[in-house]
Amino acid sequence: MTAFARRASQARSVWTRQSTPSQQPIPPQSNALSQPGAPSRPTAPQQPAAPRQPAAARHPNISPRLLPSPRPAKARRAGAPAPAGAAAPATATVLVRPEMLRTISAGVARAGDNETGGPFFGTVQRTWDGGRYRSMVSLLGTLPPGPAVDGGPGSVGLGARSDGERAVSALRWLRETTGLDLLHVGDWHRHPFGSPQPSGGDRRTAGEMWALTTAPVWLTAIAVDDAVSERLADAADNVVTMTRAQRHEQEIHFYQECRPHGLVPVSIRIEAETTPKLPPLPWHITDTARFAAECRLLLANGFRPALQPVMPGARPAVVLELAHDHGHPLTVETGLRHPCNEPLVRDAKGRRIRLRTPWSPERFIVDLLREVE
Ligand SMILES: [Zn+2]
Repeated sequence: MTAFARRASQARSVWTRQSTPSQQPIPPQSNALSQPGAPSRPTAPQQPAAPRQPAAARHPNISPRLLPSPRPAKARRAGAPAPAGAAAPATATVLVRPEMLRTISAGVARAGDNETGGPFFGTVQRTWDGGRYRSMVSLLGTLPPGPAVDGGPGSVGLGARSDGERAVSALRWLRETTGLDLLHVGDWHRHPFGSPQPSGGDRRTAGEMWALTTAPVWLTAIAVDDAVSERLADAADNVVTMTRAQRHEQEIHFYQECRPHGLVPVSIRIEAETTPKLPPLPWHITDTARFAAECRLLLANGFRPALQPVMPGARPAVVLELAHDHGHPLTVETGLRHPCNEPLVRDAKGRRIRLRTPWSPERFIVDLLREVE
């Protein structure tokens, strides 16, 4: 038997080019989409008039409009930087939901040869270790990389322009529906052909994010992956059998910003039992192009759409309230994965309106409303 294996990305040189995984932390109270009690127009907030970042910015460049409020005292941080000369930094206990790792894995697989990344959404609690408090971080979710993630082979910019609005919307929606005190506690990004060690740019970015964030910890994770293709040829008598196997190996390395040491490795534990599971993000956040198209069509047909506020603990759905100049208001309830499932149309009294034709993902909400009129 002869066997030969080929590694697609064999040369793993140390990554020295600058990676800029994030521009600014997401403040927990940012209002990007809707305000409880005062539903906003869906179209306008999704397409903010004033972008946060210049398109070409790849360095942390903070817009004052969305800056988090200053932290009152560094002593509030459970994972506070160790004093100079301290032997080893006290890192946090980090628990990770398995679904979040799968989302990162899928995002990395879709990125080709480019860097990509996303925010970490999680909770932070204090835990007593016998001598001091330490931080216990539960990393519960992330945002699948969207079209506005500015990733190239040597760097990635996160949180700029519509990517930042998408992340703010996701965090706000998750906080509203779960009632959890979710924070933007870090970022992950991919090194396509590089080392899993943080680059100089990664270290600078982490330091700047730590100075800006109101979260008590800041984590950076670096994903590396390797495609392995293996071909086997086996000869027996007059027959040669050839098989080909492909594997895609991924690793995610976690670091915590610990002053004065900078980014230091932090151990993680995958924990599905004791950490809360987040619902999938709804379509109006993950598929902003579809949401904009739905709203454009509704407005063109005289409907004024507004998103119904999300209630903590209620079954999450995307409900559009539709006012109309020449008729009663309607509500349209879509699932989180619209347009996969049929939307439910209700009249002003909440009664479901049965439609004559079957739903398909090629149709738009406005097509259903034409049947109602
Ligand atoms: Zn990097």
